[in-house]
Amino acid sequence: MKTLVFPGTFDPITNGHIDIIMRSLRLCDHLYVAIAKSSRKQPIFPIEERIELACLATKKLTNITIEAFDGLVVSYVEQKEAHAVIRGLRASSDFEYELQMAMINRKIHPDIETLFLIPNEEYSYLTSSSIKELATFGADVKRFVPSDVADRLLERYKKTPS
Ligand code: ADP
Repeated sequence: MKTLVFPGTFDPITNGHIDIIMRSLRLCDHLYVAIAKSSRKQPIFPIEERIELACLATKKLTNITIEAFDGLVVSYVEQKEAHAVIRGLRASSDFEYELQMAMINRKIHPDIETLFLIPNEEYSYLTSSSIKELATFGADVKRFVPSDVADRLLERYKKTPS
């Protein structure tokens, strides 16, 4: 039984994350989407809401568990008896940071591999931060994120009527 872990902040989940989830599911028997409770990115959505949105976006998928995690990714992977960490690679700008993390994780736990998956090119520019920025200005983000996420962003940034 092959088990993979896809860790991240998912603030909020986007179609790019979902693309990587679908690709990962083709490579394993079970996928854990591990949502970081705390993150250097200072998420705008609380952990409960990030989990809820990820669950709604993946409700039709099987062999997947969405849950919160805290601490080291490699410890989580070990606890789940998983085989590898999945990370998405968009453009060369992701590479430096991802390489650093993968090398550090390998030093801490030499048996755990990091697998990089490349999304469909239409998602290669998509980041949770850019979606949040677009939503701040009232732009329509429906084509970039699942519908529940678009609704939640709209609600969050809705201007209070004068
Ligand atoms: P983190 O704080 O761990 O970078 P993110 O939620 O931003 O959390 O990203 C989680 C993972 O999803 C990372 O590996 C990131 O590269 C990947 N990812 C995010 N957006 C996309 C996208 N549009 N296409 C492919 N991978 C993506």
